[in-house]
Formats: sequence, C-alpha cells, structure tokens
Amino acid sequence: MKIALIAHDRKKDDLIQFVTAYKTILEDHDLVATGTTGQRIIDETGLPVTRFQSGPLGGDQQIGALIADNAMDMIIFFRDPLTAQPHEPDVTALIRLCDVYQIPLATNMGTAEVLLKGLQEGFIDWRLLADRRK
Ligand code: PGA
Repeated sequence: MKIALIAHDRKKDDLIQFVTAYKTILEDHDLVATGTTGQRIIDETGLPVTRFQSGPLGGDQQIGALIADNAMDMIIFFRDPLTAQPHEPDVTALIRLCDVYQIPLATNMGTAEVLLKGLQEGFIDWRLLADRRK
C-alpha cells in the first residue's frame, strides 16, 4: 500500500512517536510524505520515505494529485486544529479528495491507530483490486 504521512509543525513530534510505535507495520509499505515531515521521519525512524514539497509549497497538492490518479491508499495527516495555516485551502482540498475517492484518512492519532490496525488485519485490501490502482 502507498501511505502518505503529513503533520503540521506542532504535530510533528506526535507523528514521529506514532511512526516509531508502528514502524513494524509501516516498514512493509511505500511511504510518502510532505518535505519537512518526511525528512524528520527519515532522520528519526530510519524508514525510507519519498518526500514531496513542503506542505505550504505544494506538497499537499502533490499528494492530492496521487489520490486523483488512484495511486494513494491511505492518508495519515496530523493536522493542527489550533493554528492558522497559510496553505489551509490545500489542506481542505486534500481532505476533500480523500472523500471523493474513498481513501482512508486519519487526521488524529486516535483514528490513525485504528487505520493501521485495520491495515494489518487486511481491512483495506480492497485497494489492491487490480484495476483500481496505478
Ligand atoms: P511539511 O508540510 O511536512 O513540509 O511541514 C506539512 C504541512 O504543513 O502540510
């Protein structure tokens, strides 16, 4: 599965903690991330991550484009609900595309844990149906 990992600045420590805790699940999948988030995951967990632009510079839109191409299977996006983001329209657009294409999306750690446990149990294997993916 192709999984995108994104965290706003004040949520990055939480995401690193989460990725570290679930490393044994995540290491079996293709990970992508926005720029700064991805660099921290690489540096602090050692997992391989394909990095896109930083979120405010278009990284969320690049991940959204993969969703539109049916090339993304899950989004874990730890948003900061208490801080205004300069790229709020991009954040909204990314979440909207998850809903358009029925892509599993977690915006906080509680849901992210359920998604990864579901992933492990095979609940998202429907994404592997041949002609649904690129
Ligand atoms: P970043 O982008 O990983 O480059 O910080 C995340 C975001 O703010 O959307």
